[in-house]
Amino acid sequence: MANSSTYHKTRIAPTPSGYLHVGNVLSFAITAALARKKGAKVLLRIDDMDRERVNPLYLQDIFDTLNYLGIAWDEGPSNVEDFESNFSQLHRMPLYQQALDQLAQNKLVFACTCPRSTQKPCTCLEQQLPLSTPNVSWRLITNNDDPIQVKTYIGKTISEILPVSMHNFVVKKKDGYPAYQLTSVIDDLHYGVDLIVRGQDLWDSTLAQLQLAGLLHKTDFSNISFYHHPLITDATGNKLSKSAGSTSVQYLRQQGKSAAEIFTMIAGMMGVTAQVSSWKALVEALVE
Ligand SMILES: [Zn+2]
Repeated sequence: MANSSTYHKTRIAPTPSGYLHVGNVLSFAITAALARKKGAKVLLRIDDMDRERVNPLYLQDIFDTLNYLGIAWDEGPSNVEDFESNFSQLHRMPLYQQALDQLAQNKLVFACTCPRSTQKPCTCLEQQLPLSTPNVSWRLITNNDDPIQVKTYIGKTISEILPVSMHNFVVKKKDGYPAYQLTSVIDDLHYGVDLIVRGQDLWDSTLAQLQLAGLLHKTDFSNISFYHHPLITDATGNKLSKSAGSTSVQYLRQQGKSAAEIFTMIAGMMGVTAQVSSWKALVEALVE
């Protein structure tokens, strides 16, 4: 991981839609370690735009988990009350709305009536329904041909076209709220993030966000560097889900596990047998 680039700010960005699990902890530990190595500040960015799934218990769990594991952050809310008053994404609705208006004015979005879980391909682009139609999502008219440039943590540039999974991705949900890809771009720019550390499962999102930022003429976003880390998987090789209770930190704490025991368990899940006392030691054990 040797490289001479400097970074000013990275972020940990949990969603309060479930109890945090060991996969989240691994991501936070890697983010904190890279920030420390580069002298970057860590922002705690909590994404609460998924209004149907946000739960106050899960919000409190984010602070409890980070404090329990000794993972510190430099910027962002210090507790739930501070979050609600000053940092909730609801406070940034005008910024998201401005971006959505800009996409609409430039005819870069179309209204979609497809159910969320449909298997059928979306043909709504041809329908040309008015964007103001009730209960529609807005999909981006994506460029599926031209390569997108991704700057990596080690100073390389990767060039890739938009994956099929992101063709015409949603920027505004049926409930009227902006979608994750859009809020993530706007928030990272708003807070001046220049290093994004996230799991490999978000590689497609990275490409989508870079394209979206380009279409919004937010050129600063293309200067952000990305580090995509390996994921903890379950016994069947699948990504851990938030419903998997036995891997939630809250459950492990209730079972009497210390922070060191949780870190040691995570190392084991990544195939490393070692006694690990802290998040710093965890990342060191994984890199060796
Ligand atoms: Zn559709």
